[in-house]
Amino acid sequence: MFRKRISSVVMLFLSFVMLASVVKAETPDDYKGRHAKYIFFFIGDGMALPQISSAEIYLGSVAHKDKSIVKLDFTQFPSRGIATTYDASSFITDSASAGTAMATGNKTLSGVIGMDVTRTIKFPTIAEIAKSKGMKIGIVSSVSLDHATPAAFYAHQPSRKNYYEIALELCHSGFDYFGGGGFLAPEGVHKDKENILKVAKENGYTLISSREDFMNLKPGGKVLAVNPVLQDESAMHYDIDREKSDISLADFTAKGIELLDNSNGFFMMVEGGKIDWACHANDAASSIKDVLALNKSVDVAMKFAQEHPDDTLIVVTGDHECGGMTIGFAGTKYQTFFEKLNHQKISYVKFDDMIKKLKADDSNLKMEGVMPLITEYFGLTTDKQQPDMLLTDYEYGLLQNAFNQTILDKNQRMKDDASYIAYGGYEPLTVTITHIINRKAGIGWTSYSHTGVPVPVYATGAGRNVFDGYYDNTDIYKKMKSVIGL
Ligand SMILES: [Zn+2]
Repeated sequence: MFRKRISSVVMLFLSFVMLASVVKAETPDDYKGRHAKYIFFFIGDGMALPQISSAEIYLGSVAHKDKSIVKLDFTQFPSRGIATTYDASSFITDSASAGTAMATGNKTLSGVIGMDVTRTIKFPTIAEIAKSKGMKIGIVSSVSLDHATPAAFYAHQPSRKNYYEIALELCHSGFDYFGGGGFLAPEGVHKDKENILKVAKENGYTLISSREDFMNLKPGGKVLAVNPVLQDESAMHYDIDREKSDISLADFTAKGIELLDNSNGFFMMVEGGKIDWACHANDAASSIKDVLALNKSVDVAMKFAQEHPDDTLIVVTGDHECGGMTIGFAGTKYQTFFEKLNHQKISYVKFDDMIKKLKADDSNLKMEGVMPLITEYFGLTTDKQQPDMLLTDYEYGLLQNAFNQTILDKNQRMKDDASYIAYGGYEPLTVTITHIINRKAGIGWTSYSHTGVPVPVYATGAGRNVFDGYYDNTDIYKKMKSVIGL
């Protein structure tokens, strides 16, 4: 009886302790430990579990005969959480409101950068607060630097499309390092404004636009570094298309450490922005390669953290899922064949450009004329000797229908619901090719837009424990702020 009472007291005590630890872990701003001095915040745009898991299954499929994954470095971080992604407009967020949530701790409307739902109140961002406390700040993105995610850390605009105004805020931010893509409207929408690079220079930024100059950069002064080659919409190449003259996302991260390292510490946000773009276009191979590029950038931060284990926090997350990507497709049932993605050599964008050129050169282009290119760059074939990538009659029919749309001028193409569901406004032939190769691999898509599933959060280093649990995306800001001690 007595023992029973003791044990129930102990149980009660234990459950209080457990409850307290749960509350403690999930309270966003209660971090009491040693504050982190060096903060890396990696955002895979459009990167939720399907994007991360497909990269791990791809690596496993290529490396092993048995069915085992190869884990990415950041999925092995000791702390893991799940974050909701909805915004004030919808359960399916856009990148502007998601970026605002993580950078400022506030929900806002889709399309709004760093402002409230009335579009009148500006929220201070974690990067601005860190800057005001004497830390150095770096913002890196594989898409244009005025795009929604990077902008959410330095800009306050009622619309994410105010590219020139956003870029002006970049120039006046006082942040120490910007690296990645270029600008979408460097002279304003009407091309009547002072060139943004000139404004940046007037505000003390050293402008870098070659790989050699970039690699030779030494600390001191503010830097704005734009990748020498820009692909679509002033973004860096998809990693699958990366060339020797390119600066990789990992290079941008490494240089950031070199430039920002100082006794007051730094905050660096690194965005893998084209994971999202590849998923909008339902191009799994390009998405996977960009997730791997982000993982390599995290590696660079991990090496730095090994030298400063008690002072460094690394957080990796996504802002939302994109494309409704999943592992499993009706046609492949319980199996996957991700090794087939290895046949894809270039991104959908690069193939679009090839088709555009072919169309311009040959007004009488036929399906037979593009088939060799489809085989060369995606492996899909009509050759029965290669059963692995052999197009079924059904798949060939899909390609032929898509080709018939692709050879038309855009304004002559079908615009009904069925066409949207089939092609999503993308180049019909290319998106059909990626759909077919993805389905052969066992990957399904439900959308050409974002979806509303939560995202995983991975953390390591000082204060990592506060990132365990299930919380809102606005809490990520609060957690980082408490670990930095702002
Ligand atoms: Zn996004």
